Amino acid sequence: MRDMTSSSFDSRLDAYAELLVRVGVNLQPGQKLIVRADVEDAPLVRKVVDIAYSLGSPYVEVLWGDGLVSRSRFLKGPEGSFGIVPEYRAQGMIQLAQEGAASLAITSEDPDLLADVNPENVAEFQAAWRKAVRPYMELSMRDAIQWCVAGAASVGWATKAFPGVPEQEAVERLWDAIFTATRITTDDPVRRWREHNEQLRSMRERLNERRYAAVRFKGPGTDLSVGLADGHRWDGGESKTPAGTTFVANMPTEEVFTAPHRERVDGVVRASMPLSYNGTLIDDFTLTFEGGQVVKAVAGKGQKVLDSILDTDEGARRLGEVALVPASSPIAQAGILFLNTLFDENAASHVALGRGYEMTVEGAASMSEEEKRATGLNDSLTHVDFMIGSAEMDVDGVKQDGTTEPLMRQGAWVS
Ligand code: ZN
Ligand code: ZN
Repeated sequence: MRDMTSSSFDSRLDAYAELLVRVGVNLQPGQKLIVRADVEDAPLVRKVVDIAYSLGSPYVEVLWGDGLVSRSRFLKGPEGSFGIVPEYRAQGMIQLAQEGAASLAITSEDPDLLADVNPENVAEFQAAWRKAVRPYMELSMRDAIQWCVAGAASVGWATKAFPGVPEQEAVERLWDAIFTATRITTDDPVRRWREHNEQLRSMRERLNERRYAAVRFKGPGTDLSVGLADGHRWDGGESKTPAGTTFVANMPTEEVFTAPHRERVDGVVRASMPLSYNGTLIDDFTLTFEGGQVVKAVAGKGQKVLDSILDTDEGARRLGEVALVPASSPIAQAGILFLNTLFDENAASHVALGRGYEMTVEGAASMSEEEKRATGLNDSLTHVDFMIGSAEMDVDGVKQDGTTEPLMRQGAWVS
């Protein structure tokens, strides 16, 4: 077992903090920074703040949260109290964002933290919070400010990702996995990320030029045609503010993704990794699609939970996202199930049941619900990603005339 205070851990944490500031939010000289984090993430946050000031930031606001404090509230707070959101808390974020601050959010949450909490209490709070911070959300959702979400190891998360492993060792192993997944273990993480962003950009542009009608997945237990929405747009990699400042909204990110057509998905798909959903593991599962809809779902483990996802609403039986990720992804190389979508969805090619993203259909942001639906963009209350890619997966682009072009062979991009 290694020592968490060792200089190698410390220098990796330095490199990680630097990556989040320089590439994640890409903080500009003179720019303010908002950091949202759990108290347990303090060692990383202190480094982030230090680097931000070194780069010339005039002010860094750290908004601390505490998962266990939230848990107590949701467990023991009186009924009807969960809509309380102190104004100043939301105002702090709104004011700084309106002044052009960049925003970094650190996630380190125990995936089971709220497993035994009444979900209605959480939903009541989330609705009130979203309403209170709407002007902030509006700025970040249209990329008017640089923003980034990244992970940090915590005891609660690490002991779920490594069950049965002693706390300290679990935390070290989760940090190792995060460092591998974010290329911190390479010789020059900042340069590697610039190259990686360039690759994602060229892949996205290539897919957007080809205007495929569908993508077809073939692998063990999978033969699936995913028709794409009319006017679909591939997204992924770096984002850009209106002023032209680039940033990486999710760290790590390995995917290029777009909108499937809600009525044009046919065939069988077998999940290549287990899916962790609200603290339950769904494993060894296969879905059969006809006319875009799941008509059969069989799970070796977690059948009930899988059925409950599909029964959320009509749109939960249809796809809202298709994403391509090579099997060489450093998240796959980390070799663990993180139990956190930020990481797990970047391990392999995946699809998501439920809601599609407006940004993946040209002009959808200004369309009515009916117009969006007419493009094939799916709508649902839920959005659940599951992995289908592997080193045995072939992917073809299917053109309008039905001819195909190879996109991936054995899980690797065909150049
Ligand atoms: Zn995705
Ligand atoms: Zn997704």
